[in-house]
This record gives sequence, C-alpha cells and structure tokens, in this order.
Amino acid sequence: MYSRQTISELEADLVAVEAKIAELRSEQHVLVRELEYAQAPQSDGSRSMVDYVQSHLDIRRDTARDLVFAARRFVHHRGLHDRMLYRGATFDRTVAAIKLADAGASQDDVTESYRRDLAGVARMIVRTRHVTPADERRVFSGRYFTIQPNLDESTYRMWGEAPGVVGRTIEKAICDRADDLRATAGDLPSTRAQRQLDALGVMALDSLNGSTTGDGSSVGQVTVFMDARRDNPQETATIIEYGPRVGPDTLEEIMCGGRVQIVGLYTDGIPVVTSPAVRAIPPAVRHTVAHRDGACVIDGCVSLYRLEPHHITRFTDGGSHHPDNLATLCWYHHHVAIHGNGYHIDQDSPAQRRRLTKGPPPRGSPRGVG
Ligand SMILES: [Zn+2]
Ligand SMILES: [Zn+2]
Repeated sequence: MYSRQTISELEADLVAVEAKIAELRSEQHVLVRELEYAQAPQSDGSRSMVDYVQSHLDIRRDTARDLVFAARRFVHHRGLHDRMLYRGATFDRTVAAIKLADAGASQDDVTESYRRDLAGVARMIVRTRHVTPADERRVFSGRYFTIQPNLDESTYRMWGEAPGVVGRTIEKAICDRADDLRATAGDLPSTRAQRQLDALGVMALDSLNGSTTGDGSSVGQVTVFMDARRDNPQETATIIEYGPRVGPDTLEEIMCGGRVQIVGLYTDGIPVVTSPAVRAIPPAVRHTVAHRDGACVIDGCVSLYRLEPHHITRFTDGGSHHPDNLATLCWYHHHVAIHGNGYHIDQDSPAQRRRLTKGPPPRGSPRGVG
C-alpha cells in the first residue's frame, strides 16, 4: 500500500507512528502507576515492578525499566510529559529528558538536550549526575551474579550487576586475558565477545587447577553414557555422568583429555557394555608426546598455555593413541580452534609446523590404527 508514496511521505508516516507510540506509552504509564499502587507485583510473586511489567508485557528489560521509570516520574515532570503528548517528543526522548532533570540539570540544559541526539543526552546525564552515599549503598547492596544452566545443562547463562570499581576490575581482567587469546588466535575467526567468554573459561580453569599444565588432563575421570544400538558415537547424544549433556565434538574433546569410561545403554536405560577406562591416552604416551613436541605444534604459535595431546585422526574415526597420531596443542588451538570451531590438523603439514584446515577430518593414522 505504500508503494506509490514518495520518500518524504513515508518518512512523515514513520514519524507519525512514533507519535502514536508515545501517546500509547503515556496511557500505559498511567496503568503501570495504578498497578504499582495496587501492589500488583506482590500479588504474583514478582521481585519488582520492572520484573512484573517485563513478564506481563513480554518486552525487553530496558523497555520495562523505562516504562516503570516514566510511571513514577511523569507526575513530577508535567511539562516534559505534555511536550511528549502535544509537541511530538518521543517516549525515549522524554524518558531521557526526565533522567537528565532528575540528575540535577538546569531547566536550560534540559531544553537544550532536545536538540541533541539520544546518545548526546545520555552523555549529558552521566556528566551531570553526582553519586551520593545513598546511591553507593543502593548499588552495593544490589550487587549480584547469577549463573544458571538450561534444563539439560548444555548451555549456561550468566548475568549480574556490580559496583563500578568491581565491574571495572572484572572487565579489565577478562579483556586482558581475551587479548592474550587474540594473539594466539591469529587469523582464526573469533569475535571479541567470544574471546571474552573463552577468557572467563580459562580463568576458571586456572582457579581450579592452577595455571600449569600438569599432565595435561583437565577433565579427570568421566563416565559417558550413549545409545548402545548405534556403534558410532557421532550419531548419538551423550550425557556425562551427573553433568552436562554434550554432543559428539565435546565427547571427542574429552577423549583427548581425561580418563573416559563409556557405558552403552539401551533405550530403557539398562547398561549393556561398559568399557574399562582404556579410552584415555596412557601416561607414558602423554609424556613421550609432550617431550617430543615441547610446545604447541601449530605453525607460528608460541603459546605454552595448558599444552595437551590431541588425536590427529579422531578417536571416534578409528584414530589411536599411537604417538604418531598425537600432536601437542596449546589450550586455544586445542579447545577453541579444533574442538570448538571444527578445524582439523592438515595431515600433509610438517609435524612441528602443523596447519589447520576446514576440510574433511583426517581418516586413518599413519600406523597403529585401532
Ligand atoms: Zn583433541
Ligand atoms: Zn597453539
């Protein structure tokens, strides 16, 4: 229906719709205020009014927070509210202007803020606001960190809120570590956010195991259950005993590391085959390979961090624990590049200057398959 309109007509429509949204938000904030007076959050067990609005409207937390903020503050800023209703200021603009006024800005500064973009107003708010002792206490007592697995523990979510100085410390530690990883990552694709999570993971590992490599086994003994009717572990979902559900790539990763016992199960859950913990790389072989390679064998890598042996031909593809099928890798190349991103070691590359490839996985080791 819009196809015959000019660009300026479309723009005018777009702006008009935003004005309608502002009008509707204004209606909504009255309702939110009344619900808050009626103590609606307590009635359904919500932790706060923001939680209540977020869950009932199924909207983003920032939007819920702005709506509750507006409901509480519009009444003290009638002029700004009217400017939204009758003079075309948007809801976001009005919330920003009220936050600026609340931060202690002069009337002139608030008026001036309408000429800036929203990011500019956000900077004005930060410059204007003074942190009071009451603010500090509120931030400190509101500090929290939550880490929560999903139902089958295949992923974890984490979030929280920290006082400024603590947050800055955590951020710096994670960012410094992520920068170290970038030096190792070289040309491998990884976003800053991905490296930050990787950094957090290795910091946790260091905290649990110390930062030296030890015997390279960071996993310990694990028991893995899988469907016994399929002999190819690549096809079957697996669960680590009392732990997270993992896929075939993680299973392969675990086989490079700790002692693994495989238990085959029929669908009714009865164990039928139990392997002894033979799937682990024998300690003597580990030491031989570590001594032979001395460092990460990826061409150009100088990292000595958590050196570990890796099966060039995957164990599940018939690769053996023979030293010729093992290569020493640093933590990043082993866990992020290979087992995480799905790269393989190029079998044609020289033994001490290995290249990574995205081609099909190597099949069959030079000798001693099985
Ligand atoms: Zn491996
Ligand atoms: Zn490396």
